[in-house]
Amino acid sequence: MMMTLSGTAWAANQLKSVRVWPSPDSTRIVFDMAEQPSYSHFSLTNPNRLVIDLKSTATKIDFSSIKADGKLVTKVRTSSAPEKGTLRVVLELTRPVKPVLFPLSPTKPYGNRLVIDAFDTREPAKAVTAEEKAGKNRDIIIAVDAGHGGEDPGSIGPGKRYEKKITLEVSKRLARYIDSQKGMKAIMVRTGDYYLHPNKRSDVAREKQADLLISIHADAFTSPKPRGGSVWVLSMRRANSEIGRWMEQTERHSELLGGAAEVIENTNSEKFVARALLDMSMDRSMVESQAVAERVVKEMTKVTKMHKRKPVAASLAVLKSPDIPSILVEIGFISNPTEAKLLSTASHQDKLARAIFRGTADYFKAVPPSGTYFAAQSAERHTVKSGESLSVIASRYNVSVRDLKNTNNLKSDVVRIGQVLKIPSGS
Ligand SMILES: [Zn+2]
Repeated sequence: MMMTLSGTAWAANQLKSVRVWPSPDSTRIVFDMAEQPSYSHFSLTNPNRLVIDLKSTATKIDFSSIKADGKLVTKVRTSSAPEKGTLRVVLELTRPVKPVLFPLSPTKPYGNRLVIDAFDTREPAKAVTAEEKAGKNRDIIIAVDAGHGGEDPGSIGPGKRYEKKITLEVSKRLARYIDSQKGMKAIMVRTGDYYLHPNKRSDVAREKQADLLISIHADAFTSPKPRGGSVWVLSMRRANSEIGRWMEQTERHSELLGGAAEVIENTNSEKFVARALLDMSMDRSMVESQAVAERVVKEMTKVTKMHKRKPVAASLAVLKSPDIPSILVEIGFISNPTEAKLLSTASHQDKLARAIFRGTADYFKAVPPSGTYFAAQSAERHTVKSGESLSVIASRYNVSVRDLKNTNNLKSDVVRIGQVLKIPSGS
């Protein structure tokens, strides 16, 4: 059909560009939007298509210039809209895909985005391999990293108070809170008083397939006055330079990319694809880090004075893993005599640990990763109506019959009218 420029003045939103990121078993399509998108989608067969409707959206994009990956998505085009003001985008596909759509809020250098992950349904998506290995309803894994240790004492406050001791105490308490929460599990990166290289810390988190790394530190300053806590996240510049460095190390590629690396190694475009994959996980993990950090700040504000009222982006050694969401919590200033004393008390350490735990748990309850106990708890519910089979319900919610059965512990495909089913979340 003819492309009509729907540049109507009342369109609230604008589709500014479309980016296509191929990977071995999925393709990510990113819509760059002027505002938060309001959207819906559905799939069509014969030929296979994924249709995305963007409400109150206009665009000036020349769709013929968009390069599709050719593997899963052969073409990106528009189609006549179901109603005035809606922009309908059609992805032409080589085979059916499992689509996962989610909006991302602005993170420099990007603005509002709508992400469409099209997973090849012929093979299990690599993104869920780790979860499948761990089984359904897995625990969310939090790597708790007590800063410093061994011959590295960290800062030393008045009264010979060692940062490495305080961070370990708070970390142990935090881990206990995490382990007492059903659906969450803590991994202590450092369990005693020994030195661990900063690089090794994120490696431990990666080995354990942690969903989040929380590093605990106490601040210090040359003057005794400053006090209060703060929460830090990886800066975009640091993330980019780390990725650049990783790209130079071939063995890093396979470690980071898991099974995908084997496929990539056999192609000439290894570096390009590896970079694209890292960009994707970076994109997501940075958004997650920021969101967790905000909730942790909110909870900490209730129990302690804060030095910074918002998460701060920084280029800190432990926050060097663009692939794992990571935050660094400075629990207070050990160089401030009053705060140093406070930080050494069990009751204050406990308050801090609990606040960090609460902020973290709140985040994962609000945005549970798929395949986790939290996701199963928050699942949407569907009441079976007359004429509905499991496969009808599965396709309606874009989930597989297998996932639907697993989530509901169904032994057979038989459902009865009025039965309430939990719908597993997409991603
Ligand atoms: Zn420190």
